[in-house]
Amino acid sequence: MRKLDVAGPRGIIRRYRDHLPVGDDTPVVTLDEGDTPLIFSERLSSKVEAEVWLKYEGLNPTGSFKDRGMTLAISKALEEGSQAVVCASTGNTSASAAAYAARAGMVCAVLIPEGNVALGKLAQALVHGAKVFEIEGNFDQAQKLTQQMSEQHPFTLVNSVNPYRVEGQKTAAFEVVEALGRAPDLHVMPVGNAGNITAYWRGYREAHELTWSSSLPAMFGFQAEGANPIVRGEIVQDPKTVATAIRIGNPASWSGAVDAATSSGGRISSVRDKEIIEAYKGLAEEGVFVELASAAGVAGLLEMHRAGAVPAGSTIACVLTGHGLKDPDWAMSTAPRPRKVEADIEVILAQLDMA
Ligand SMILES: *Cc1c(COP(=O)(O)O)cnc(C)c1O
Repeated sequence: MRKLDVAGPRGIIRRYRDHLPVGDDTPVVTLDEGDTPLIFSERLSSKVEAEVWLKYEGLNPTGSFKDRGMTLAISKALEEGSQAVVCASTGNTSASAAAYAARAGMVCAVLIPEGNVALGKLAQALVHGAKVFEIEGNFDQAQKLTQQMSEQHPFTLVNSVNPYRVEGQKTAAFEVVEALGRAPDLHVMPVGNAGNITAYWRGYREAHELTWSSSLPAMFGFQAEGANPIVRGEIVQDPKTVATAIRIGNPASWSGAVDAATSSGGRISSVRDKEIIEAYKGLAEEGVFVELASAAGVAGLLEMHRAGAVPAGSTIACVLTGHGLKDPDWAMSTAPRPRKVEADIEVILAQLDMA
C-alpha cells in the first residue's frame, strides 16, 4: 500500500520521543494527538492590548488535552504488561482513557461523579466500551476509590497522578514555544486537578533548558470561585461551579500548581461562574467553540486586564482545554431555539429583516 506523504512524525510520542520516557520497546498507542492550532485572537488582543494566542486543545482526537497524557500512560501500561486501566473523571479523562484503552485492547473502568458529567463525554466513554460506574458521591470520592483499585487490584491508574500523564501533557508547552519561536510572557489556563499547569510549567522549563526558548513565562492558573481550594489554601468539601471539568475540591497536583505559579512569578486565582460564561460566549462569537471550563483562562485574563495586571504589548498564550461539543446540553440551554417557518423564501427573509 502506498504511504501518504506526511510532514514529520505524528502523535506526541513520535514527535518528542527524545524528551519522553520511552524506549525502542515501548509500544506506541496513538491517535495522532497533539499538534493543535495556536490561534491568534484579534478580539482578545485588542481588548487586553497585548498579543493573545489561543492553544486550542479541543482539537485533540477525543476533544481535550487529556489525549497528550493518555497516549503515554496507556503505552507505558501496555509496555509494563497491564491489561486493565482505571480512572476517576469529571468526563474528559474517561473519554480519553476509553478511546486509548480500546486502541490498545485493554479493559477500561471509569468512575464518574453522579449527575455531573457532560453528555458528550459520557457518550465517548460508553461508545468506546469502557465499564462506566456512576458513583453516589463527588469527584474526590471517586478518585479515592480508583486509588484503592490500583493499589489492591491489577488496574493501572491513569488519572493525572500517573506520572506519564504529566510527562505527555508537557508537550503542549513545547508546541507553543515552537509556534511562537520562544515562550510567551504570560501563560494563562484553567486549573482543576492541577496536572495540566504542572505539565506546562515542566514543558516550558525543559524547553528553556534545551535552549528552544531564551525565556520562561509567568504562569497564571484560574479556578472557579466555588471550587478554589488552592486559592483558599484548604480543601473545598462540596465544590460548586457550572464548569464541571474543574469542579474539584482537593486537587491531586496541588503542590505542582503552587510551584508553577510561585516560581514563575505568576499566580493561582479564582473567576466567577458569570465571568466564565461570558468568556465562553465571547470565544463562540469569534468562532471558537470550547466547553465552559476551558473559558476560565480567558475569564481570568480579562479579569487581570481589568486589574491592570497585563503588561501592554506582551505575548500571552491561553489554553483552551476542551471542545464545546463535549457539553451540548449547556450550549443548547443558553442559545436561542431554531425558528420554525414555512418553506418560503419571503417568510425567511422577512424574519431576517433583510427583505
Ligand atoms: C481536565 C480538564 C481541566 C482541568 O485540568 P487539570 O489538569 O485537572 O487542572 C480543564 N478543562 C478541561 C476541559 C478538562 O478536561
